[in-house]
Amino acid sequence: MKYIKFTDSSELQVANIYCIGQNYELHNKEMGTAPHKDIVVFLKPTSSLIESGRTAYIPTISDNMHHEVEMVIAISGDARNIEPEQAKSYIAGIGIGVDLTLRDVQKTAKDKGKPWATAKGFYSSAPISEFIPISELDGFIHSLSLSVNGEMRQSGTTADMMNSTEQLVSYISKIFSLQKGDLIFTGTPEGVNRLVSGDKVRAELADGRISLNFDVQQA
Ligand code: ZN
Repeated sequence: MKYIKFTDSSELQVANIYCIGQNYELHNKEMGTAPHKDIVVFLKPTSSLIESGRTAYIPTISDNMHHEVEMVIAISGDARNIEPEQAKSYIAGIGIGVDLTLRDVQKTAKDKGKPWATAKGFYSSAPISEFIPISELDGFIHSLSLSVNGEMRQSGTTADMMNSTEQLVSYISKIFSLQKGDLIFTGTPEGVNRLVSGDKVRAELADGRISLNFDVQQA
């Protein structure tokens, strides 16, 4: 069982981990993805979660693990078929996370039309920070950034998401339903790049209001 922690010291048991792909135009451009506004969903198992201060491991099946910094939404209650206007009532808070991706494994999967599960769902592939409770937020537009060994690699804003926080929560509710403790990774801005053994990664949300640190090692 895995729990996320909030900055007010409360905790929430994690249910499902949904991830949204291709939700920022400039990231799609850097990946050579044709323009679209579709909502692309994949999942990670709870064994992918690690909290700040831990190590993320590059599995032996890959030689090209990438960082993708993303705002993460935590869901506060069960619901089905909600509209975007109702989404806020089902959000417990937000945090910062990194959707670690085995880019070489993902490319092979894409080329062969196979699922992304191994490329995206491996052990330690989802480092996450503490979460800011919804009661302390006045919206879901925030800066997010990621640096490696002190050098800035990704710097963006959730204002550039093609599908908004509210739209994503509504969409998930209509396809999968929402469960208390679900997490939703909301996609990454441009600047994704390779991580190697020994790298020290720092991700920040809302100009450093919350942060996440982890280091990288070969498995
Ligand atoms: Zn991602």
